[in-house]
Amino acid sequence: MADADRWPLRRIINVSVAALALFLLAAVVVGGMALNNLSDARETVVGRIDPALQQALRLESALVDQETGLRGYVLGADEDVLNPYTAGVRQQNDAIRQLERLLSDMPAAESDLARVVERAEAWRTRYAQPTIADIATSPTAQPNMTVAQGTVLFDPVRDELEALDDELNAAREDATTALQSAADSANLALIGIAIAFALVITTLAVGLRRAAIRPVSRLAEEVRQVARGDFDHRVQQSGPRELRELGADVNVMRERILSDLSAAKVAHAELDSRTTDLERSNAELEQFAYIASHDLQEPLRKVASFCQLLERRYKGKLDERADQYIAFAVDGAKRMQILINDLLAFSRVGRVVRESVEVSCAAVLEQATANLADAIERTEASVEAEELPTVSAEVPLLTAVFQNLIGNALKFRGDDPPKVRITARRDGGFWEIAVADNGIGIDPEYAERIFVIFQRLHNKADYPGTGIGLAMCRKIIEYHGGTIWLDTSVESGSRFCFTLPVIDATIDRDKDSDG
Ligand code: ADP
Repeated sequence: MADADRWPLRRIINVSVAALALFLLAAVVVGGMALNNLSDARETVVGRIDPALQQALRLESALVDQETGLRGYVLGADEDVLNPYTAGVRQQNDAIRQLERLLSDMPAAESDLARVVERAEAWRTRYAQPTIADIATSPTAQPNMTVAQGTVLFDPVRDELEALDDELNAAREDATTALQSAADSANLALIGIAIAFALVITTLAVGLRRAAIRPVSRLAEEVRQVARGDFDHRVQQSGPRELRELGADVNVMRERILSDLSAAKVAHAELDSRTTDLERSNAELEQFAYIASHDLQEPLRKVASFCQLLERRYKGKLDERADQYIAFAVDGAKRMQILINDLLAFSRVGRVVRESVEVSCAAVLEQATANLADAIERTEASVEAEELPTVSAEVPLLTAVFQNLIGNALKFRGDDPPKVRITARRDGGFWEIAVADNGIGIDPEYAERIFVIFQRLHNKADYPGTGIGLAMCRKIIEYHGGTIWLDTSVESGSRFCFTLPVIDATIDRDKDSDG
């Protein structure tokens, strides 16, 4: 098995096939030889000895026919009676010819036959032919030799015939025994081949299983273990060469994944720690913004009100420049108050938690347009909305989103009266709500910048504002689990989209069926 371990799979299969072929060849040779022997033995009995016995019988009856025919002729001197004799001679010659052919490789029987022929020849030449000649010359006279003398000459013929018969019977017995043993050998050979075949197949099956199938299954199991994520598991390299190579490849792959994984883990850990840092600094910033804006309000209010007091009391009493300076101070203090208020509102999102309620966006929109009623009237704007969904939200915050988006649509208007259109569609587990206008539009380049706090694309002389509205919208929408973006695919005007999670779908269905 150690050898097979080093062998390539191809060689294992080739050797197995060659072993099987060799075995089959040996089986064919051994089986063929056994069957050939059996056939030879059968041929000896059926094709030679049995026909020889038959011919020996014919020979005997031919000779006996001659003898009895001649005896009848001697008694009756009738030529017709001699027919059996002449027929016997013909039959005898034919039987002898057949026997000579059949007994060609049986020397003992051959010499027995020769003796039969010799004795028969002696009887014929010394008794039969002279007697026939005597009767032919004088049918009424007694032949020279008596019947008894003829019988004496014929007896050796019978003896030799008997010897030939015995010899043939003995030969038949031997051949039958040989036939039986050939049949036994053939049976044994076939049984042997069957057992050997079973052994070879079993050995091949066990060998293939140990040398090829088991290593393949083991490798497959180990690879599966790696595939399931156990990258530390080293794949054993055993079995045929191809499998060991495959195992080595899997190990290389596994080590690559491990090193990538550890790099990813390091990066992940770094990211985690940066995220934590970022979250902390964000929280600190928010805290700072809140405290600063909150604590600044009071002194600022004081500055603003004293500036206004100065303005009221000393307007026109000092020189023109002093009036101008006081007006600048009042304006600066007012703007600063607005900024601080916006900042405070921004930092309050998510910090001051109010209850989220299921509210219809249509109702929220109505509140927002009511808050913007003056601006809408002044700009002769139209605000249209499709059917809007019910969502779960903090109502003042969602109102602020609609108010900011519609407010911007009115503020960044074009030459025509503003047209604001609010639509909604469902996208999986979210509602996507869009606020589109026909205003001056936004260059897609600034699609991200406009959401950054205090970032504005215009100066405040052209369009008033603090640049906090969209940052506030993003913060509110993300706080509610959605996202907000500028749709850069519009050809004119601006279109802002935001998503909000659909309230549990099952609840919707229940409501529908109640309704
Ligand atoms: P503010 O409105 O106070 O300037 P925002 O955060 O609401 O701040 O908006 C940021 C900038 O995005 C605006 O200054 C303006 O340039 C651009 N903007 C926002 N909404 C629109 C709009 N509907 N049409 C054109 N420009 C807009």
